[in-house]
Amino acid sequence: MSLELTSRYSETSFLSSELQLIHSEILECTKCELHKSRTNAVPGEGPPDARIVFVGEGPGQNEDEQGKPFVGAAGKFLTELLESIGLKRSDVFITNIVKCRPPNNRAPRKSETEACNPYLQSQIRLINPRIVCALGTPAITTLIGDEYSASKSHGNPLLKGQITFLPMYHPAAALYDASLKETLFHDFHILKQLLDNKETHKSETSKSEETSGRNRTLEKWA
Ligand code: URA
Ligand code: SF4
Repeated sequence: MSLELTSRYSETSFLSSELQLIHSEILECTKCELHKSRTNAVPGEGPPDARIVFVGEGPGQNEDEQGKPFVGAAGKFLTELLESIGLKRSDVFITNIVKCRPPNNRAPRKSETEACNPYLQSQIRLINPRIVCALGTPAITTLIGDEYSASKSHGNPLLKGQITFLPMYHPAAALYDASLKETLFHDFHILKQLLDNKETHKSETSKSEETSGRNRTLEKWA
């Protein structure tokens, strides 16, 4: 094995063992009230070196039962959206802002999101993806800031540090309002363009490009 292959291999396995460590912490976590009513915590799943991370709101009933993210109706639609741009679920990392199901699918409380956020931040830091898709307003405000929302910001990428954040509607929203389906398919095409656009790659984006406006930013578009 060449030196290059050896180091790449050990880098990936180090990464995945670090991630596994965080995931085992999540499975036993009692940092907020949500641990009391969960069946299983849902850390998330996907390749430890994924180029794209999807972040939803929180596990629902199916996810709580199976311990896996996005396995219900919204997950089925997410798979469809991914396939529409030639991606498979196994190509991407999928997780949520809270890892335990809020009772009766209520929105997670600020205190719960804050308690859980260090796990999400560690996952993103370790995976170090090119793009993070924030699905729905709770994920958007947690990841990007309180002034953003799905209706105001969807489809408008924001470069923060070396990662491009792309806000989108939550796939579940389109199951209630069919007109949002088209919006989501459209925003997935923006994701595809970002992926194809080498200029958005962190190692290929120079500081001057970042500041000269060649990368669209939410601040300008909102
Ligand atoms: N909705 C979410 O936000 N996350 C899931 O994992 C499933 C449905
Ligand atoms: Fe811990 Fe997050 Fe579950 Fe709360 S939601 S118990 S912080 S893993």
